[in-house]
Amino acid sequence: MAFIGIVCDACKIIVETVLFGYWVRRLIDNHGEKCYNASMRAWQITSPRNFDKFESASEKPEAGFVKIKVGQYLITSPDMETYLGNSTAALPIIPGDSCCGMVVQTGEGTEFVRGDRVYVHPQMYCGQCTACKSGRFFNCENPGQFGITANGFLRDFAVIRAVNCTKLPERIDNDEAIFLDYIALAVQALNTMDIDKGDFIAISGATTLGIILAQVTLYFQAVPILVDTSEANLELARSFGIYYTINTKTEFADKRIFHLTGGKMAKHAAHLVGSGVPLKQSASFVGANGKFILLGRFVSREDVSFPIAHIMTNNISVIGVTDGAKNTQVAVNMLANKAVSVLPFIEKTVGYEDIPKVFAQNADKAPSAYKTLIKFD
Ligand SMILES: [Zn+2]
Repeated sequence: MAFIGIVCDACKIIVETVLFGYWVRRLIDNHGEKCYNASMRAWQITSPRNFDKFESASEKPEAGFVKIKVGQYLITSPDMETYLGNSTAALPIIPGDSCCGMVVQTGEGTEFVRGDRVYVHPQMYCGQCTACKSGRFFNCENPGQFGITANGFLRDFAVIRAVNCTKLPERIDNDEAIFLDYIALAVQALNTMDIDKGDFIAISGATTLGIILAQVTLYFQAVPILVDTSEANLELARSFGIYYTINTKTEFADKRIFHLTGGKMAKHAAHLVGSGVPLKQSASFVGANGKFILLGRFVSREDVSFPIAHIMTNNISVIGVTDGAKNTQVAVNMLANKAVSVLPFIEKTVGYEDIPKVFAQNADKAPSAYKTLIKFD
């Protein structure tokens, strides 16, 4: 008699040892139903600095939706803002703005099949507005964000719109793919600037996104000048081949940029959300007729004052960039071609049970470009 071990492709455990043949497929499917229909478990933030475990009934995907088993998730700045009680998210909420995972069930009319490995990007689309109804989800009139306006991915299963998922090629590991939104946002920022080869681009904030933007700027054959207040973050940036870095604690950034650019100042500049460089100073890096991009996910309840004098007198365009989802496929190609390096950002990897502890540890540390990766079992 022939025997074979059957591995559930959702929970990765050997579930049966049975007679080889027709029953093999049937038992996998039966187990799949049981597994995917188990109750969903999650961590939710119930009050500032406090997590509780949360369970809810299983959901099935409707037409246009897929159910995914969450595999990897990266703790991001919006998550930390919510954890500290500084974000606009209404509590309780499950944090987590994006994830990598595997499709385990599909509703009608999706391009995915069970077992597809996918990246889920942070932007949510209402599905009701004129743009969504005509399939132009990226122009949604009522966009939301996972982990802020709705529950995110700190849970084992999630039912989401198929349009939020990008299928991952074999060449890209989940640990790399989890950075796709950063790359897609960087591409969106540079497309918005409409840069030419050799342009100097000032980037305020050697955050994860800031350093990835500097890498993508080099790939676009322009010249990034990365400005920050943290020597550790700037050192990490230099390890990625970012040549011009300025620490505003030890150098006058305006003077250095003036000299580097022959007095013209940067053609364009990006100010990263969460940057330690004041907005007014970032705006001063842009030369006349340039573009000043405010980049990232601004979820804070506090507003900031705006440097209007320099912007008005120099005819600078100010543009907010917070959604790069339409560039996700471009970002996949850049990762696959090794145009951008992301794995050195992962400082540590922890499991599902360690989540409250690691949030508490990160909250008491200075903001860093290094990231904590969470792997679900
Ligand atoms: Zn919409």
